[in-house]
Amino acid sequence: MTDAPEPVGEGVWRLALRTPTLPPATHTNTYLVGGAAFLVVEPGSPFEDTQARLAEAVSRRIAQGHRFEAIVVTHHHPDHVGGVGALQRAFGVPLWAHPETARKLQGALSVDRALPEGDEAVEPFGVRALHTPGHAPGHLCLRERQGRWTLVGDMVASVGTILIDTEDEGDMEAYLSQLRRLADLGPGRLLPAHGDPVDDGPAYLQGYVRHRLAREARVYAAVAEGGTDEATVAEEAYREVFAEVPALALRSTLAHLERLRLHGRVRRDGPGRWRRA
Ligand SMILES: [Zn+2]
Repeated sequence: MTDAPEPVGEGVWRLALRTPTLPPATHTNTYLVGGAAFLVVEPGSPFEDTQARLAEAVSRRIAQGHRFEAIVVTHHHPDHVGGVGALQRAFGVPLWAHPETARKLQGALSVDRALPEGDEAVEPFGVRALHTPGHAPGHLCLRERQGRWTLVGDMVASVGTILIDTEDEGDMEAYLSQLRRLADLGPGRLLPAHGDPVDDGPAYLQGYVRHRLAREARVYAAVAEGGTDEATVAEEAYREVFAEVPALALRSTLAHLERLRLHGRVRRDGPGRWRRA
């Protein structure tokens, strides 16, 4: 197997690295972004052999005279930050992330430069930072200057599923509105953290919105039919996958119930119990 990062757009290369992520996904894409000065986005692997592959790829760029400026992570989840420490020790580069990601990483990693929406630090690398909370409060996307591609982290995946976990500050309302915003911005080709690039970005993002809303309608129907307790609602709404992934179905159900509550359609009726509002 050749270890050269694969070009996936103008000024962006991908190296799919093995990580302990949410099955069925098994890898997180690490991206190299820029030209003579470049960023490494999402060194997610905690495994030493895999980290060595990334270090080799980075060293080859440096040997060509390119400058490794910084590490960027789209958000705080372990399968996105697992290799940050090793890469920093090897190359002495700073870590850049959204301020909310810095807060979530406190005690584990220190963020050297905050990247809020539109921050100029990433501009020399041909991208613009977009704050797209929902999957995580500090989630960032990097959109290529002319909209030819967008590095989308965990907004969507072409392998596996995106979990919105309210116990880790996931927010379905924010997530859906950021999916729509990204679609409207003209993202071009989507470069997700898990799986291959996706060519029809807007259609794919809109498909995600439709899929979530269809699932939410089933969550609401289960409550309206008197489902009341969360586990029963999850079992109804996620009938075809519940037996396989009950914990994920339950967490996703909670994210939809919270959004339905925000919209005044359901209310909490005691611990773990819900009613139509
Ligand atoms: Zn994530």
